[in-house]
Amino acid sequence: MTATAPREGQLWSRCGGCATLLYRKRLRRNLDVCPECGEHARLDAPERVAQLVDPGSFTPLPERAAEVDPIGFVDVLPYPHRLSAARAGTGLAEAVLCGTATIGRHRCALAVMDFRFLGGSLGSAVGELITRAAERALEERLPLVLVTASGGARMQEGALSLMQMATVSQAVAGLREAGLLTVSVLTDPTYGGVAASFATNTDVVLAESGARMGFAGPRVIRQVTGRELPDGFQTAEFLLRHGQVDMVVPRHALRGRLVALLAAAGAGRRPGAPPGVPGQEPPPAPARPADGPARPAPVVDGRDAWETVRLARHPGRPTTLDYLDTAFDGFVQLHGDRLGGDCPAVVGGLARLDGRHVMVIGHQKGHTTGELVARNFGMASPAGHRKALRLMRLAARLGLPVVTLVDTPGADPGVDAEEQGQAAAIAENILSLSVLPTPVVAVITGEGGSGGALALAVADRVLMLQHAVYSVISPEGCAAILWPDRGAAPQAARALRLTAPDLCRLGVVDDVVAEPAPGAHHDPETAARLLREAVLAHLLPLLDVPRATLVRRRRQRFRRFGAARTGVRAGAR
Ligand SMILES: [Zn+2]
Repeated sequence: MTATAPREGQLWSRCGGCATLLYRKRLRRNLDVCPECGEHARLDAPERVAQLVDPGSFTPLPERAAEVDPIGFVDVLPYPHRLSAARAGTGLAEAVLCGTATIGRHRCALAVMDFRFLGGSLGSAVGELITRAAERALEERLPLVLVTASGGARMQEGALSLMQMATVSQAVAGLREAGLLTVSVLTDPTYGGVAASFATNTDVVLAESGARMGFAGPRVIRQVTGRELPDGFQTAEFLLRHGQVDMVVPRHALRGRLVALLAAAGAGRRPGAPPGVPGQEPPPAPARPADGPARPAPVVDGRDAWETVRLARHPGRPTTLDYLDTAFDGFVQLHGDRLGGDCPAVVGGLARLDGRHVMVIGHQKGHTTGELVARNFGMASPAGHRKALRLMRLAARLGLPVVTLVDTPGADPGVDAEEQGQAAAIAENILSLSVLPTPVVAVITGEGGSGGALALAVADRVLMLQHAVYSVISPEGCAAILWPDRGAAPQAARALRLTAPDLCRLGVVDDVVAEPAPGAHHDPETAARLLREAVLAHLLPLLDVPRATLVRRRRQRFRRFGAARTGVRAGAR
């Protein structure tokens, strides 16, 4: 069991994880993480605040917790006696400490729960104080950081404590509507009503290493089901695997992660103009010609389409994570669909492109067989599509542009995927992208396979690497259906017009991104530079376009494909 961080005055402290006797100052220097076994001791709220915020920057909210005993609750002790004891024991007025502070010089509102105070239980005063912190954030247009530690609702206040789940949630919703970032940091333990409200309905959910979170506690689940629980049940790693949290962060990295998130949120926010709200926009920029984006002369290298298919599938070809490493900076990966899964075939998160904050989402393959298997060959499950959707919407709320990198043979063609609603997941992404009020640039970097690719590619600009392919079906699949045998894949590849120059001519793709010869795999560094330059060239002009205009043009862009394009014959080569 987790030990509580040592109190003042003690010289030595025994680790709750490995029972090592540790010199208190050494433990403190290590942020109360055992240097021997990594056990994260519980922190009280003042210690947590001190670890997270810039020194001297914390200003408590002026609001005081009201004296409440709304239902005159008595068990073996009257509730007011328990409250007094908790106050005396912690030096706090309630189970949460709220205020404003700077973290890495980014100003935010902050609410930090304290488990020592009646188990961090969510009573009316706690709900009220967190709500006030959220309202303060809204007033001053600040992001809100919540650090949770709670057994759940406070039973001594009956149904009124249950109502706090709704009270705080609607305050979080208000920040969401205003395009202000909300982040929760789950610490051990976070359960019940807190877990099922503001601990998990924020934009980004971080779990501190060693934290456990769940709605029902393990003891209850064991009693009800009569079953033993799996190893690591409800631990941070379990939550990550099941798509419940964006990341697991060791205590020493927590502040840095928050700084990165607050920086991205600050960059996307425009004072007084939440993204996507019309009426506060500058006058519309001159419209592009009715025919859509200017189409550059396609790169023609006379390569056979089948040869291009093989290059697009080359195992050495840079993956999305490779590009995030090379073409982008400061990638902060966000995980999970919040519903039950974290699909390894889709990766995404915040990153910088030439200093600008963007949301990057892409399919992830791999270079070795092991990597490819672990990533399901870049074939997204419904959880992958839902993760992508969650991140796109987050980007739009925060006013950040979206860059997608498409490299998939297609969506996962499995039984599980069908059971979990693959078709609807893809459909929802296509629908949402068509109205997403933020610039979207898609790059087909390898294989653009069918609906799984389009689920990330309904964009303002669709770019394609020189040796990438984009197709309604794989050449093998097409050959199997329309030719007598699969061996006709090369003919099918030629017939499908799936290369970048072909698709540029059809208007499906706006620009072809050159690759170093003989292909991106040969010189990934140059490939990354060319990709970065191309994305920037297409993204920068979109940043100033009013959101409503942007969405209207995006819809026009795809509306064009509704009629047969009589002027451009696919065969004109
Ligand atoms: Zn230890």
